[in-house]
Amino acid sequence: MAESNTRIALITGASRGLGRSAALKLAEQGMDIILTYKDNGNKAQEVVHQITALGRKAVSLQLDVGDSGGFSAFAGRVKGALLDTWQRDQFDCLVNNAGTGLQAPFAETTEEQFDMLVDIHLKGTFFLTQKLLPLIRDGGRIVNISSGLARFSFPGYAAYAVMKGGIEVMTRYMAKELGPRGISVNTIAPGAIETDFGGGAVRDNAQVNAQIASITAMGRVGLPDDVGGAVAALLADGTHWISGQRIEVSGGMVL
Ligand code: NAP
Repeated sequence: MAESNTRIALITGASRGLGRSAALKLAEQGMDIILTYKDNGNKAQEVVHQITALGRKAVSLQLDVGDSGGFSAFAGRVKGALLDTWQRDQFDCLVNNAGTGLQAPFAETTEEQFDMLVDIHLKGTFFLTQKLLPLIRDGGRIVNISSGLARFSFPGYAAYAVMKGGIEVMTRYMAKELGPRGISVNTIAPGAIETDFGGGAVRDNAQVNAQIASITAMGRVGLPDDVGGAVAALLADGTHWISGQRIEVSGGMVL
């Protein structure tokens, strides 16, 4: 198999928001990118064009992280993309980012809502990573995206935060079990960031925005590049010895 030194990162949910920013930051840093989307193929294609304009290669693939039954077929499509575009059979970095939130009081959260979050965040991160393991090279990296809400508690996020707490435990076990292959695994836990997430409330609701800014050391809410830059830094050369860690990227929320 022909090998090049260019590192390849696979980022789930990179058509918008934090994943898109991470993809562009990593491309600026010299990486090639496989990015996924669920519905917004056009937006994913725009990101591909932006990465290509930076002189890097990129491919976008459709993926529903809430449907673990589709993960084997997805791994096959990743393998095909690696062969077609890079003449390689493995990639270097996986960023488990795709996801949606849920705002519902503990007393009113339904089993259906809970199960939906389990499928996307817990089963998604666990079994997608499992299926992709043969395609990740020894010495590679994995970043799982959690949330500040796994540390501090805001009413209305019980079910969502439980999932993110699970992702943080999962990260430590992945780090332990994949360490012998030289793969480091870490959690990045963003604070509240201006994206479409949660109906875009942090970005579009001035009251919410000001309230979060008031409890953030840096005095404002986060922007996508605040997190994209952190993901890129954690996947840069020279940081592979960091493993099993939770790094909060929140500008110092609720310190
Ligand atoms: P976003 O702007 O809503 O973007 C979500 C991305 O994930 C999109 O690319 C979307 O694809 C994809 N996606 C959504 N559901 C999916 C599914 N079931 N299967 C596959 N892909 C799916 O959200 P974001 O703010 O960037 O959030 C990214 C991650 O950060 C999530 O895990 C979220 O929990 C976490 N997070 C966000 C915040 C925040 O304040 N924004 C804070 C803490 C943690 P389409 O475009 O095709 O729909």
